[in-house]
Amino acid sequence: MFLLVENADIYAPEKIEARDIFTAGERFAWIGNGFPAKSTLPGIERIDASGCLLLPGFIDNHVHIIGGGGEGSFRTRTPEITLTELTTAGVTSVVGVLGTDAVTRHTASLVAKARALEEEGVSAWAMLGSYQLPVRTLTGNIQDDLVLVDKLIGVGEVALSDHRSSQPVKDELARIAAAARVGGMLSGKGGIVNVHMGDGPRGLSMIKAVAQETELTLAQFLPTHVNRNPDLFAEAVEYAAAGGHVDLTTSTTPVFLAEGEVKCSAGLKRLLDAGVPASRISFSSDGQGSMPDFDEKGRFKGLTIGRCASLWGEVADSVKDEGIPLETALQVITSSPADHYRLPRKGRVAEGLDADFVLVDRDTLAIRTVVARGRVMVKDGSPVVFGTFERNSQ
Ligand SMILES: [Zn+2]
Repeated sequence: MFLLVENADIYAPEKIEARDIFTAGERFAWIGNGFPAKSTLPGIERIDASGCLLLPGFIDNHVHIIGGGGEGSFRTRTPEITLTELTTAGVTSVVGVLGTDAVTRHTASLVAKARALEEEGVSAWAMLGSYQLPVRTLTGNIQDDLVLVDKLIGVGEVALSDHRSSQPVKDELARIAAAARVGGMLSGKGGIVNVHMGDGPRGLSMIKAVAQETELTLAQFLPTHVNRNPDLFAEAVEYAAAGGHVDLTTSTTPVFLAEGEVKCSAGLKRLLDAGVPASRISFSSDGQGSMPDFDEKGRFKGLTIGRCASLWGEVADSVKDEGIPLETALQVITSSPADHYRLPRKGRVAEGLDADFVLVDRDTLAIRTVVARGRVMVKDGSPVVFGTFERNSQ
């Protein structure tokens, strides 16, 4: 399968001079100006990307791919994600997580769903564990799971400073992080511990204590939802300035924002202004997690789900509302998570890497075309490839 994209403004995520891209099979094969073998190779699919920006496929590092929620009893369990929920949002790589419920949801199902999404055309991994501790492993311990199960790339989401947390003590968190670290080292994976942060006043203190009192560093962790309240966010800015990585959650509601949640685009600006490099900042959608839904007067209406589309929405707002250069803002959903989670073929446009990319309109930044591993998944803003059971419901 050959694909030639011409006349694009390419961000790799840094702006590059080339305007044309040729993919062969699942990889970027050539990047330049004026593809030399255009007339000699048969069966090349061509896309004229005039007026479009070509960006690396987006990485959503925290999505409840088999559903989450359930905190308001069984009927509040959220459904599994569909392929097009990801692709129409420009997401070509996803990392699945469990959540509060490790009784009726399991790592094995998460791994199976990651494999299903791979078969359907995007790239997917999963984190081992949930809020519940000790971590419920597949083989008996964390290191074995990370070394032996290809799809498991780290541990999480472990919950801290939250009433739903298993309330680990510091030594417990240190041992989990140590096992994740060594498991990651032995298997060439990131071995990161993704930490769900709640609203509790202890904030990031336990992670900081582990980094101070053991040989582990802040880089072993990725605290997420750090924009959920102003105090936690202020602490997160200091934490990131001191060398930590932080993840901001993009799916939100106007009511949450009015109550003090920091909008991701504004949060990114504050982090950058504080001198934190974009390489230590990521955004994730918390997609498919349960979210309250409010009417126009702010009254509770029922439950809905977090949307992956919020991921690019917040990066686009970072550019449009906050004046952050695209090549900087883009890093938080491409190269930053790829490097921290150690996904070496992802997050960049370069020869030899996976041919994952998104074409957005140069003026409106609306997503036009999405290509995952060399295959066109979304064309002119509409999906052209559907998940196994999606077609039946069309
Ligand atoms: Zn969470």
